[in-house]
Amino acid sequence: MKLDSLCVKGLDPLITTKSHQLPIYATSSFVFEDTQEGIDIFSGDKSGHVYSRYGNPTLDTVARKIAMLEGADLDREAHGLLTSSGMSAISTAIGAIVKSGDSIITQGDLYGGTTEMLNRLFKRFGVNIIYADLKNLAKIEDYLKSDKDINLIYLETPANPTLACVDLEAIGTLGQKYGVKTAIDNTFATPYLQRPLSLGIDVVVHSATKYLNGHGQSITGAIVTKDKELHHQMWETLKLMGGTCNPFDAWMINHGLKTLALRMDKHCINAQKIAEFLEQHNNVTKVNYIGLESHPDHALAKRQMSGFGGMLSFETKGDIEQTKQFLDRLNFCTQTPTLGDTDTLLLHPASSSHLNVSKDLRVQHGISDTLVRISVGIENVEDIMFDLDQALM
Ligand SMILES: *Cc1c(COP(=O)(O)O)cnc(C)c1O
Repeated sequence: MKLDSLCVKGLDPLITTKSHQLPIYATSSFVFEDTQEGIDIFSGDKSGHVYSRYGNPTLDTVARKIAMLEGADLDREAHGLLTSSGMSAISTAIGAIVKSGDSIITQGDLYGGTTEMLNRLFKRFGVNIIYADLKNLAKIEDYLKSDKDINLIYLETPANPTLACVDLEAIGTLGQKYGVKTAIDNTFATPYLQRPLSLGIDVVVHSATKYLNGHGQSITGAIVTKDKELHHQMWETLKLMGGTCNPFDAWMINHGLKTLALRMDKHCINAQKIAEFLEQHNNVTKVNYIGLESHPDHALAKRQMSGFGGMLSFETKGDIEQTKQFLDRLNFCTQTPTLGDTDTLLLHPASSSHLNVSKDLRVQHGISDTLVRISVGIENVEDIMFDLDQALM
């Protein structure tokens, strides 16, 4: 072979013994032994990888791990997919389930991007969106009885930023009774604290950008279902819509998952302490944390979750200007829109995530001018408390 050809040609990797850690398969395509193997893999007679938008060893390994976590209580295997973002997981899952003319029942206090996706994209494709109080089960059953076009109940629990919860088992049971699929965004709880598939929910989606990655270093998503047929439908939708995850980000999730249990335990311990500290603080008028008995959904959360998580929100005394001043006085904690990282992050919804939502609508969902959201980190809790205290004055 000439030298310039040698530069171009790939060598077979010199793999002798198995790598201990998951390799990053940075390859767009895979090679077949011979033409017959190609035919067998393309026709589905033999399992194998073809093209990384369809699947890749790094992606598939991490997807399987998340599926095993979500399916930990099931007596059968759950199936997972990795996507390029949480939004891609949500659009792929919903896109695989609904068609033009169908209706989706959901709640008003979804992640902002999801509400926008439903209103601006799915409505345009002829999907009707019904916003309802998912706590009012009699009303949901009325909808299911009277509207045969309802094909999906989509929910979030605990929801952003008031941590309002929905009864997963009750919604799962209603879905099964009326043959309607149910899907949940399980980003806030993670499978370590809440496993909706075991409570009868059909599909779990994640923004893996948050707790699953845990270190704020990539944008990724995941979809898990226990329904093999639905999994195949979602895989086809993902393949065609193209929201595939890249191998490096998948590897980052794999890295994050190693400490998920440790991190979530510490997030829960710290958040409980911060919630209790804030609840008795003179300059705090309200605290929303499901670990507090004062939260309206404390009992429900206790029943369906194994811990209360790291997310909470609270209202500071005074007006919006005083809330902004409080945030600007923080030294240790950081103001940023994401959540689920190892460090403590604060967000002021009224001036950021909900800036374009009318005041009436946001107040209706518990988002007042003075509400602040905290993603409590895993630092020493005294440092977090000290910073909040000095900033609250
Ligand atoms: C961040 C987030 C999303 C969107 O995820 P991306 O990874 O940013 O696309 C969806 N749902 C919830 C609850 C989130 O917090």
